[in-house]
Amino acid sequence: MQDLPGELSDIVAVMVGVSVEGPYSYRVPAGLSVVRGSIVAVPLVGRSTLGVVWGAPADNFAHNRLKDVERVFDVPPLSEELLRTVDWVSRYTLSPPGLVLRSVLRSSEALEPERAVTAFRATGLEPEKLTRSREKVLDLLMDGEAWAKAALVGASGVSASVIEGLERSGAIERLEVPPPPIVLRPDPDAAPPTLSAEQQAALDQIRSLEVDRFGVALLDGVTGGGKTEVFFEAVADTLRAGRQALILLPEIALSNTFLTRFARRFGTRPGEWHSDMTPVQRARTWRGVADGTIRAVVGARSALFLPFHELGMIVLDEEHDGAFKQSDGVNYHARDMAVVRARFAGARVILSSATPSVESRNNANQGRYKHVLLTSRFAEAALPDISPIDMREEPPDKGQWIAPRLAREVFATLDRGEQALLFLNRRGYAPLTLCKSCGHQYQCPDCSAWLVEHRFRGVLMCHHCGHEQRTPKSCSACGADDSLIAIGPGIERVAEEAAARFPGARMVILSSDMGSHTQLKQRFAEIETGEYDLIIGTQLVAKGHHFEKLSLVGVLDADLGLDRGDPRAAERTFQILTQVTGRAGRASRAGKAFLQTYHPTHPVIQAMIRGDREAFYAHELAAREAGGLPPFGRLAALIISANEHDPAFEFARRLLSAAPMAEGLKLFGPADAPIAMIRGRHRVRLLAQSGKDFDLSGYVRFWLDNGPKATGNLRVQVDIDPQSFM
Ligand code: ADP
Ligand code: ZN
Repeated sequence: MQDLPGELSDIVAVMVGVSVEGPYSYRVPAGLSVVRGSIVAVPLVGRSTLGVVWGAPADNFAHNRLKDVERVFDVPPLSEELLRTVDWVSRYTLSPPGLVLRSVLRSSEALEPERAVTAFRATGLEPEKLTRSREKVLDLLMDGEAWAKAALVGASGVSASVIEGLERSGAIERLEVPPPPIVLRPDPDAAPPTLSAEQQAALDQIRSLEVDRFGVALLDGVTGGGKTEVFFEAVADTLRAGRQALILLPEIALSNTFLTRFARRFGTRPGEWHSDMTPVQRARTWRGVADGTIRAVVGARSALFLPFHELGMIVLDEEHDGAFKQSDGVNYHARDMAVVRARFAGARVILSSATPSVESRNNANQGRYKHVLLTSRFAEAALPDISPIDMREEPPDKGQWIAPRLAREVFATLDRGEQALLFLNRRGYAPLTLCKSCGHQYQCPDCSAWLVEHRFRGVLMCHHCGHEQRTPKSCSACGADDSLIAIGPGIERVAEEAAARFPGARMVILSSDMGSHTQLKQRFAEIETGEYDLIIGTQLVAKGHHFEKLSLVGVLDADLGLDRGDPRAAERTFQILTQVTGRAGRASRAGKAFLQTYHPTHPVIQAMIRGDREAFYAHELAAREAGGLPPFGRLAALIISANEHDPAFEFARRLLSAAPMAEGLKLFGPADAPIAMIRGRHRVRLLAQSGKDFDLSGYVRFWLDNGPKATGNLRVQVDIDPQSFM
């Protein structure tokens, strides 16, 4: 398909925002004009549907059978770089382009003109009666400006009826004005920090990437190294150069702390983009990004598809975080797709992390990304001292999970008036419940997974599908009373033990199921101001937080995840242990961390104890290279699912036998997935592994196009570069 410059002829290809394989042709009626990227409404099977003009039609259609474009929206056409990104993501992930486009057309309200708001302005006439309240309003309007009604009510503290009375008296007049901008323009020179010498050197390295060219920097710095300050300066450069900046955070880290830091540096909050926004906020942000009034956005991964026109920089904070991988709908990794979009946009990318992904580290080692290091903590803060607690030699007492040495450290920390964090990456009370009379183990009816007891809420719950049932009083298999016992710890159980052992401590439990985002943000703020002494949490607390008084971190199960047969297990464990122990001692207090482990000699645990991150990367890169695993090779996972096991398995076998031969390509499976059933769907996996320079997406597309077709309730899901092997 050709890109037509400027105005297109009377027939155009329109990509509709639904799951279809390519654009459809429509006629542009007289009176409408479109260009590539114009957002339009077109009829599709009897319904008006949003779409985007993609270019000239591929074929010559019989003109008389085409339907007309119904409407062209009055918003700037999407930029060329965004259209190319959509095509690229679609090809790479094997998702229909219309489905990817849906991530762009996320707010239909944004396409309508903004609704005006009611405002008032002084006329200069005196009202016949001047009360105290009326005076307050008139004082505000002395500035001669039109004030939005809501703002006037807010600032004067009077009721709306006072304002209406003034209007009737003729002293003020009503007018309709555009709503005030959702955020102000950030000022790159509002409050620049004084950087340390090391930070300045890091910034200089980033600045050696030209501001108007594609380039990637890996900002690889210890936790508390002051990476945010450094990338904020690079954002300031981008704003000064007249371009827009996007900062992506793993969703939960869209914390007030980060937004406040942005506001302190740039004098105003950034545009925001995340799942907690109202449709109106969404629409206004989308529009502001498209028309260029919003210059900087802080958002979750989906912000990558916002309609920027002057995108000059994308920052991924905590670039290693698993939350950047989307795994429903379009399976994309925001880190990789950010690099793709930046390439099309001629923008710079900063990947920031204390524990970079093995992929990014390799790209930096190879010189594809500029490797920018921050090796010491900002100011007097030092990295925590990390020690192992060998659980075979110093086990906790029976029925307890906190080893005696760790408990003594908690006491000492509390005595000094400092905070301690006990970390266990398991929600709920216990991961397994069984009946001690009959041995019955409580399992999800729809998944191959144990039900996890959540004692606070009195339920047994499946962490894969969300299935819940009340914890029974008597065994549902044998009927025995009070016979259920909890096996293993979750954080609720650790909290129960901690409450008994440290009775004076003010304690808080934090995991993603412990309240709404707003409530969780509130808890974090309270921890920051020192309202708690003891924090018990899952990985939710490991990410990016800065708690000044926290000086002790105890990891209750440092081995969690290490013994799984997952190629990324070591990397993930290393990242989470570094992040969580990195919460300790971020201010002037010296921090200490303890790892309870059964494998003190494991390379990951050893690298942690010795503070030798380079040893970890060297070991892990060597292991990946030996196995031909990413980043030295490519993987694609195919999940075949069905309502019954055997048809899924049988289809996977047929698919495998239809796979074309290719040099250097290996296929594994079929095998039941580690979680063999989710939501009643049986899951069978095939895995394709290839060399690094092989077009694995292209291969899988060819294979599926030419192989047997999934019919009935069979489904094939493709995951290129899978992050999870469940
Ligand atoms: P990282 O993101 O690398 O973990 P942060 O950017 O959060 O580290 O910095 C850690 C702490 O040090 C923060 O409280 C931050 O405000 C402070 N800090 C870092 N650099 C500076 C600076 N140049 N001037 C003042 N404070 C700084
Ligand atoms: Zn389930």
